[in-house]
Amino acid sequence: MSGTRPAPHPTAVSAPFWAGCARHELLLQRCADCTAAVFYPRSTCPSCGSARLDHVPSGGRGTLYSYTVARRATHRRLADRVPYVIAIVELAEGPRLTSTVVGTDPDAVRIGMPLVVDFEDHEGFTVPVFREAP
Ligand SMILES: [Zn+2]
Repeated sequence: MSGTRPAPHPTAVSAPFWAGCARHELLLQRCADCTAAVFYPRSTCPSCGSARLDHVPSGGRGTLYSYTVARRATHRRLADRVPYVIAIVELAEGPRLTSTVVGTDPDAVRIGMPLVVDFEDHEGFTVPVFREAP
């Protein structure tokens, strides 16, 4: 995809997530002590406080938990995308992440719609996006 996009700024904790995206693999963290699925990337488990968090692949499927349609760009590098969907996706594993829904008219997007992850490659980084699942 050739559009512009704000670039992520990976930290030591989030770098494995972004490296997964570059491989077109959506990663979550899984707590080795209480088995909680964790997103966003953290250094300690929000359920039990353990520091034993491993990055594991997500199945990449979920549902639209909530959304809004941005009709004015929220960042200058998104100006060519309006209108676009700002989505909170609830993954099948449980965690929610903020992303976007592509390939569906923003006015046809609906809460609860089944989604599957896809990836957009940009110069130097890759971001996860979601499409309506078939
Ligand atoms: Zn835990």
